[in-house]
Amino acid sequence: MFTAFLIKYAEIGVKGKNKHLFEEALAQQIKYALKRCEGEFKVSRTEGRIYVHALSEFDYDETVDNLKTVFGVSGICPVIDVKDEGFEDLAQTVIEYVDKVYENKNMTFKVNARRARKNYPMNSMEINMELGSRVLDTFPEMKVDVHHPDVMLHVEIREKIYIYSIEIPGPGGMPVGSNGKAMLLLSGGIDSPVAGYMIAKRGVKIDAVYFHAPPYTSDRAKQKVIDLARLVSRYAGPVYLHIINFTDIQLYIYEKCPHEELTIIMRRYMMKIAEKIAEENACLGLITGESIGQVASQTVQSLAVTNEVCSLPVFRPLIGFDKMEIVEVSEKIGTFETSILPYEDCCTIFVAKHPVTKPNLNVIKRHEKNLEERIDELVQQALDTDEVVIAKWV
Ligand code: ATP
Ligand code: MG
Repeated sequence: MFTAFLIKYAEIGVKGKNKHLFEEALAQQIKYALKRCEGEFKVSRTEGRIYVHALSEFDYDETVDNLKTVFGVSGICPVIDVKDEGFEDLAQTVIEYVDKVYENKNMTFKVNARRARKNYPMNSMEINMELGSRVLDTFPEMKVDVHHPDVMLHVEIREKIYIYSIEIPGPGGMPVGSNGKAMLLLSGGIDSPVAGYMIAKRGVKIDAVYFHAPPYTSDRAKQKVIDLARLVSRYAGPVYLHIINFTDIQLYIYEKCPHEELTIIMRRYMMKIAEKIAEENACLGLITGESIGQVASQTVQSLAVTNEVCSLPVFRPLIGFDKMEIVEVSEKIGTFETSILPYEDCCTIFVAKHPVTKPNLNVIKRHEKNLEERIDELVQQALDTDEVVIAKWV
């Protein structure tokens, strides 16, 4: 029965020029989400509102589910829109609306009319009163409550007339594309897809980089990361995933540096390379799934040593999260099942039994000197292996 959706968004902090950018990015992301839905739609921006109009038959549940993936949407209101054919006609439509939408009429309500078109022959007050009494006459179980109604019946008089009373919560946040772009270090684990989701939620477009180490890591592990990028792209829009062959660097570090420092030195090179790719692709920050204390390479000391190689800001949205909290988000956004597939995400054979937990930057740097001879060349070679996969949901 619904013919359109009114999209609500929080406007706090979006004024002037930014507001325009915000709305444009939001409309763009809504269109991206609708592409995967059965049916044809038109997204329009009028008078500071965004509407999705159905131009054909559509699947209501599917459409709502997909609109719920659009960051920046605070509420989704299914609407019926009708031509203005006089008040009698409107009253009839409102009564039919109430009848269809609310099976159980045992409820309080209030009519909230808004007259955006001032040439309508009644004012908002009169519309409220008259529609309210028509509804009461038709459904005597219903009662008016002007302060805390169970149901707020919105009637907006514009070029057409819009009727709605339901608001389905959206994901909140800001539309992707309204806040620059950052490079996500995406592994096959639970954490990094969640980290990408959280930063995308703040309006940041996401590129991603995955370091693989064939033959120590398998093609299935790589496919898993591509699948995760695709799951993130459901919310974040298309993700350009850079796949970098890291094997030679890893072997070289293994050969030249103390084994208990392998992970931390490796992490430093991952960050360095990620930063290079970020800069080449206009990314203004890096994103990781690190959380304080989760593993040896994520103690405060280790994070400080890893961070030292970067000049771009590193966003670590999970920094204060417990594992359980991260798992909760990953289940909610649908990445968990893929993340826990058992394919190795980094070559476990290289991982030391007792990795350093309190690395000292000077010591690490001294040991990295052992790499001087070939590391620049190997980093360049790794960058040359860059294979870009565009991960998208549709
Ligand atoms: P995740 O669950 O995201 O894999 P983790 O708990 O396994 O994280 P680490 O392996 O220490 O933690 O990695 C910390 C962060 O470094 C990851 O969240 C990710 O952002 C990045 N990272 C780790 N391995 C890779 C990789 N092979 N390719 C790209 N990024 C990686
Ligand atoms: Mg990992």
